[in-house]
Amino acid sequence: MTVNFSVLASGSKGNSIYVATPGVRLLIDAGLSAREIERRLERIGVRAEDLDAVVITHEHRDHVSGLGPLSRRYRLPVFLNRATRRNLPDQVGRLTDCVEFTTGRSFSVADLTIHPFSLSHDAADPVGLTLVNGESKVGICTDLGKATRLVQHHLQECRLLLLEANHDVGMLTKGPYPWSLKQRIRSASGHLSNEESRELLARVLGDTLERVIIGHLSEVNNRPKTALEAFAEVRHAWSLQLMVASQHEPSEIIALP
Ligand SMILES: [Zn+2]
Ligand SMILES: [Zn+2]
Repeated sequence: MTVNFSVLASGSKGNSIYVATPGVRLLIDAGLSAREIERRLERIGVRAEDLDAVVITHEHRDHVSGLGPLSRRYRLPVFLNRATRRNLPDQVGRLTDCVEFTTGRSFSVADLTIHPFSLSHDAADPVGLTLVNGESKVGICTDLGKATRLVQHHLQECRLLLLEANHDVGMLTKGPYPWSLKQRIRSASGHLSNEESRELLARVLGDTLERVIIGHLSEVNNRPKTALEAFAEVRHAWSLQLMVASQHEPSEIIALP
């Protein structure tokens, strides 16, 4: 049993993750153009033709902008909850093959068990995900304003975590965004700061955790170096492998044997 994982893109200009097990190849979110998703898959040696399905976390554009064309071109079933489906932007167009899941209830796609759990974020019914195949559990948790106990509960015992570290509070406060947008980002239904993300990590750390990817970094209100510094102590204390997911290029494939 192996899980292969690559973050194709992470950030407010588009999000997509590639996950593969021996039985299935999935995308989590499709927030780049279909063409760009194809290109990034190619970069990691995967053909878009070989995808089996797409799972959508929420309806924000940075998570669905390529969904319509991609799912139609490759006839991919789209897994999402009902509220997300009803609130998809018009540009997504008609989806011919939707499979609705219920937030809080696990479902399986071939040999991968997926558990969608609620996040505090300003979308209709946004979810974080855990993915389990054999001994490997992966947690995906971006787009949240508050790390609730439910979130902490679900992220226990992962081997690999993708965690949002959206902004540095100082940079956001002093930065160019209008006050209302700053408020939105800082609110309980906005995005996690570096510090909030590190606190969440500290609460879910355990012996199983090997690797942490920090993602959904703001290009205006954060820097990879700043985010990494915020995690430096916990990284050393737990000898974690830590990396920052990029907006502009896919990460190498991480294989969990
Ligand atoms: Zn997002
Ligand atoms: Zn969002």
